[in-house]
Amino acid sequence: AVAPQLAYLSGLNPEQRAAVEATEGPVLVLAGAGTGKTRVLTTRIAHLIATGRAWPSQILAVTFTNKAAREMRERIGRAIGEVAEGMQWLGTFHSIGTKILRRHAELVGLRSDFTILGTDDQLRLMKQVIEAEGIDEKRWPARQLAGLIDAWKNRGLGPDQVAAGEAGAFANGKGGRLYRAYQERLKVLNAVDFGDLLLECLRLWREHPDILEQYQDRFRYMLVDEYQDTNVAQYLWLRLLAQKRKNLCCVGDDDQSIYGWRGAEVDNILRFEHDFPGAIVIRLERNYRSTGHILSAASVLIAKNQGRLGKTLRTEDELGEKVTITGAWDSEDEARLIGEEIEALHAKKHPLSEIAILVRISAQMREIEDRLVQLGVPYRVIGGPRFYERAEIRDALAYLRVVNQPADDLAFERIVNVPKRGLGDATIQVLHNHARAARVPMMEAARFIVETDELKPKPRATLRDLLISFGRWSKLSETMSQSEVAQIVLEESGYTDMWQKEKSADAAGRLENLKELVRSMEEFPDLQSFLEHVSLVMEANESDTSERVSLMTLHAAKGLEFDTVFLPGWEEGLFPNQRALDESGRAGLEEERRLAHVGITRAKRRAKIYFASNRRIHGLWNSTVPSRFVDDLPEANVEIVEAPANFSYGGGYGGGSRFDRMQPFSGSSYQTPGWQRAQAHRASTEDGGSSARRSRDRRGPMMIEGELVAKSTGSS
Ligand code: ATP
Ligand code: MG
Repeated sequence: AVAPQLAYLSGLNPEQRAAVEATEGPVLVLAGAGTGKTRVLTTRIAHLIATGRAWPSQILAVTFTNKAAREMRERIGRAIGEVAEGMQWLGTFHSIGTKILRRHAELVGLRSDFTILGTDDQLRLMKQVIEAEGIDEKRWPARQLAGLIDAWKNRGLGPDQVAAGEAGAFANGKGGRLYRAYQERLKVLNAVDFGDLLLECLRLWREHPDILEQYQDRFRYMLVDEYQDTNVAQYLWLRLLAQKRKNLCCVGDDDQSIYGWRGAEVDNILRFEHDFPGAIVIRLERNYRSTGHILSAASVLIAKNQGRLGKTLRTEDELGEKVTITGAWDSEDEARLIGEEIEALHAKKHPLSEIAILVRISAQMREIEDRLVQLGVPYRVIGGPRFYERAEIRDALAYLRVVNQPADDLAFERIVNVPKRGLGDATIQVLHNHARAARVPMMEAARFIVETDELKPKPRATLRDLLISFGRWSKLSETMSQSEVAQIVLEESGYTDMWQKEKSADAAGRLENLKELVRSMEEFPDLQSFLEHVSLVMEANESDTSERVSLMTLHAAKGLEFDTVFLPGWEEGLFPNQRALDESGRAGLEEERRLAHVGITRAKRRAKIYFASNRRIHGLWNSTVPSRFVDDLPEANVEIVEAPANFSYGGGYGGGSRFDRMQPFSGSSYQTPGWQRAQAHRASTEDGGSSARRSRDRRGPMMIEGELVAKSTGSS
């Protein structure tokens, strides 16, 4: 019998148990979706603590999202009680990196209250750097430089380590120089971007081996979930930390590697066995999540990929429902069908929290959201910075950032003339020039300028007032709660007033958002931790546990599971995404297929795939064809619910190549009720499918975790 305190072990199968009990030395758990990898990690942590092998504070555990970290903490708590609260080092790479860096900030040229820049601030800063170098930003866009620098950082390369040839890739050989200039500007601003959170740790440890050793000693055991999606910088970071004790346990699945476009390297799996000789490799083969048809459909689909390590998966569950495929006339019709199904499920008492809608790009969300709102189905968007991304929220945050840290130039610049107070471009230029010349923050420059006659009397007086206000607000923040301060700042600055006076339709909503922001701040101990939360955690409504349907991108769905999963938009060009194919060819296609695999394997009991024959992209209707991934699914596990009359399902069984179906819908009759209504759209769909590809959203990759999930998956 299991000792009472080890009761948590009894829910494991023998392989899982072996993975939990192999506490010493390097361990790699390589196993498919739903085999209990995350469960193994959680149990392992509980085991390490319960058996006295380590204190909670001596365990480093890395999850892919903040949400996953929170869930893991709760689970460990349930297994072994509140001692789990002491897990200070359970979080994402970014949050752990931040914590380490704040402790030793001075050693890498920062102060401990450094700011973490969001994407738009990062771009603004890069623009400034490019312009300061006299380079034409239109020809060499900041976004491109941002992508380049981000890629270097993902590979663990600082400005000194970027090879000359590579650095020449931007603006005729100036890439390396701009990278260096950008890093210098960050230091002046006492700021870092997300890539720095790990890169600066690496530098810290390289330059201060004694500090590295402190951490090597502290972290007796290290655990990493979703290991297949680590990038090189993260790998180096882990390897350094684990070098001494070597108690590193990584779990992952090469078939779920979906962040290659952001620098993740599946090769880290192979590297692990090489760098940690004697590593125990454990495979888990039983899937506990999905019923038979779903698991089989997903396995056949992923088997079409060539670059795999390969594995077997089985379930002892019943076959359950087949994966359904539904063809809709257009995306609106698709949203309508999904809405109807959700209503039907809900009527049968299916909990809404067990329903997810997973889209390929975030732009697909709006129509679905509209439909859900119309039906009154409560939903939440997961993994997106939607709330914090709104303009009024960003403005409010900028005010608070300046209150928190007067040297935050980017924030200062954002709000110095919002609401409009006559501190226009000319004034800002004067501040800029002085700040640059004196190498001081703009706020400090402003303090100097208002004592001179460089500005006209009116802007000078206004600027002086603003400085006095900021001084007062900073003072208030020493004694008042951050939400009270926020309330005062928003009122006294005239910001709330600006929206109250505004007559536009959305002004009321914006005021509501500002209220919500002030409300949400109450949960934090101080302003600094709130701002940190905002930069790190971009998941709106995350703590809301009420009954809601979850809407998110496929990228954000990693590691999650739901009874019923809706998978809309399985169309060529959208999914697989044309941009991934254009940029990365075969590798891109395989990554897209892994994404499809991730989508299906989120489902416990029902997986529902949809495609639309027409989709509006940037306001234009385009006709589309079903995704090749639909063809990849085995006929035996699939049920066609509704499709255009002449839709012949290939099923990968010689039913004709998908190209035979290139124009299956034109001029034919159609079964769905949406057909007649949809006829009206015809006139605007004449331009055919190819423009659908040309007009896909082509934003570059983003760099921010949490935010990155929603933003970049919205584009790649
Ligand atoms: P993914 O690759 O999608 O992240 P995973 O391998 O991490 O999946 P888990 O999320 O840990 O899988 O587990 C999948 C589901 O199976 C969970 O609901 C989990 O509770 C359940 N499960 C795992 N192991 C067992 C077991 N031994 N007995 C019963 N249920 C289990
Ligand atoms: Mg998992």
